[in-house]
Amino acid sequence: MTHIAIIGGGISGLAAAFALEELRRSGALEYALYESSPHLGGVLRTEHVEGCIVEAGPDSFLTEKPWAADLCRILGLGDQLIGSNDTGRKTYILVRGRLIPMPDGLMFMVPTKILPTGFSSLFSWTTKLRMAQELFHRPRAANADESVASLVERHYGAEMVNRLADPLLSGVYGGEAASLSVRAVLPRFAEMERTHGSLGRAMLAARKKIPHSANKPAPLFTSLKNGMQQLVETLVPRLDQASLLTNTHVHSIHPEAEGWTVGVYPEARGSGLNSDRFDAVILAVPTHAAAQLLATSSPDLSAELAAIAYSSSITVGLGYDRGVRESLPPGFGFLVPRSEGKRLLAATFVHNKFPHRAPDDRALLRCFFAGSNAESIWPLSDDAIVTVVRDELEQILGLRAAPLFARIYKWKSAMAQYGVGHLERLDRIERLRQQLPGLALAGNGYRGIGVPDCIRSGQDAARQVLNL
Ligand SMILES: Cc1cc2nc3c(=O)[nH]c(=O)nc-3n(C[C@H](O)[C@H](O)[C@H](O)COP(=O)(O)OP(=O)(O)OC[C@H]3O[C@@H](n4cnc5c(N)ncnc54)[C@H](O)[C@@H]3O)c2cc1C
Repeated sequence: MTHIAIIGGGISGLAAAFALEELRRSGALEYALYESSPHLGGVLRTEHVEGCIVEAGPDSFLTEKPWAADLCRILGLGDQLIGSNDTGRKTYILVRGRLIPMPDGLMFMVPTKILPTGFSSLFSWTTKLRMAQELFHRPRAANADESVASLVERHYGAEMVNRLADPLLSGVYGGEAASLSVRAVLPRFAEMERTHGSLGRAMLAARKKIPHSANKPAPLFTSLKNGMQQLVETLVPRLDQASLLTNTHVHSIHPEAEGWTVGVYPEARGSGLNSDRFDAVILAVPTHAAAQLLATSSPDLSAELAAIAYSSSITVGLGYDRGVRESLPPGFGFLVPRSEGKRLLAATFVHNKFPHRAPDDRALLRCFFAGSNAESIWPLSDDAIVTVVRDELEQILGLRAAPLFARIYKWKSAMAQYGVGHLERLDRIERLRQQLPGLALAGNGYRGIGVPDCIRSGQDAARQVLNL
């Protein structure tokens, strides 16, 4: 019988375990899933506070990436999937202290409608002129990788980087446009530049190809009625309970003549270091943790994994009464460019984005800090963090009311940053991994940081170890 170790009980490791579960039931294999903390699900965590559904980590996933919704359906959660309330979708950008709505027709940061962009006060006339000139850019042969900031600046200028590219990417990766790889993070943009030259023309051409459908377009974001933790709570009981080893930190892994040894500190059992033998290992942990585990067995692979940067983040959930709900601007929330000098990077008006998440007489705000902005408030007490958030919400929204409740969640080095050259690094990682038979890698450090990509990476890793 094949024995497989899964290290990491976040959604990547759980997806891998679920993909192996049918074969385990048929007696073809056994697996053991090791998780350092007492909880399974990693950063997927939801709290229910005074009728509100407060997300500590991810609040939803992109609908166009199918793997998360597909898994939910397999688990019988199809009727629990909810879409974002896109009729109310409006996102503001803070510019010189004022919230300005993103104009209609902006696709990520590419303008596709002339009038709304032309009349918007989000951009200066210089940037608007750049947008018009951009339509005449000629196709450009693919050169080496570059940062998102560098590509966007070449097309639309520095203001577009500062006001849109950087805040949008901060909200997703907790990282900066100046360091994120365009090929890893926005591969479509690199391809559009190669084929069309102009991103604007490429977007319009792509839009023309979409068949007109009488059906309502799919919502941009999907989530679960009871919050993202509902996925974990439904998935975990479908796994073999005896195979789930929480409070068990993996200390080392070593390749043997045949298979692997996994060394663990089973803290809950209060004993010292144990080791177990396996035919294969799925490392479903952040790459900095994988690097530590591989430091002696493959220093080269370990160094490549350690070079993938991670950023820390803090989310703050704030509940308010009806009066605040009525006073907030309509829409999904706002983004704050770094040049505004605030620590807050983004805030979501959750009651508008997902109306199921708050009763009608409550407002629910989700505030987001990442990277150096998160580090700067990390050591503060919870009360002091709430004071920072309230000060900035007062400056931005004029919101003075005290929240009915506040919840703070800190995530140390949890969001991978795909730096320039990330895809080349992944090629090197893959070559080095192949020298270690029976090792598979999953998680958010490789080909997508979102929940759907992590689920797909866990499923792929399970398939990979089955082809031993
Ligand atoms: C604040 C925040 C907001 C986000 N928002 C969104 C969003 O809205 N939509 C979206 O799609 N994505 C979002 N993401 C990204 C997405 O949630 C994560 O990339 C994804 O959930 C990571 O899952 P994972 O299993 O790979 O890693 P993790 O959830 O980090 O799990 C890894 C697990 O491995 C365990 N572990 C580590 N080392 C060891 C060891 N040596 N031994 C045993 N166990 C170990 C850890 O304890 C942890 O539980 C967000 C992320 C964060 C932090």
